[in-house]
Amino acid sequence: MKSEYVLPWFKGEGYHCPHCGVFAHQHWYDVTLEDDSEKGTSIAGAVLSVSTCEKCSNFALWIDGNIIYPVSGKAPLPLEDMPGEIKKEFLEARSILDASPRSATALLRSALEKLISHLGEKEDVIDNIENLKNRGLDAKFQQALHSVRMIGEEAVNPGQIDPGDDEDTALILFNLTNLIVDTLITQPRMVDEILEKLPGSKKK
Ligand SMILES: [Zn+2]
Repeated sequence: MKSEYVLPWFKGEGYHCPHCGVFAHQHWYDVTLEDDSEKGTSIAGAVLSVSTCEKCSNFALWIDGNIIYPVSGKAPLPLEDMPGEIKKEFLEARSILDASPRSATALLRSALEKLISHLGEKEDVIDNIENLKNRGLDAKFQQALHSVRMIGEEAVNPGQIDPGDDEDTALILFNLTNLIVDTLITQPRMVDEILEKLPGSKKK
């Protein structure tokens, strides 16, 4: 079943508003930047647009077709195959991203750790990552987990709020969580579905 949640898209007539969360009609404005001196210069190539939500009247800012405000508009939705408890924390992190990127990051580290232990079936996070590598998770993920301080000397405990965390860290964690779900849940499931349809795979 397809998710009915529609992410904000450039010049979209309607989507789920990143402020009020309601599917609503959006009004669009292109902003022309003019010099307030007498020279009448304008900024070349700057494409600044504003959308406003018909439901809550809040606005979003877009540059060159990308939403830059509010930040939650940039966060992806959880993939459908994401296990329920992890999905819940993922969505909660999305809902608080604008108010507190640090809290969102703490929630996402918790969700990601749960996902890794759910898939890796071991106690220790490092053992789990080794296990997942053997099952096809690219070794680069380890580096990614280092950089978001899930593992290594700079690791932050899941759920712990770290003053160094920001929106960028949160956005990386959203994408990393989805990427792991895609690699280790969705793709193997799709391969199984394809193999089942092959003539040679019929039960003997
Ligand atoms: Zn709204």
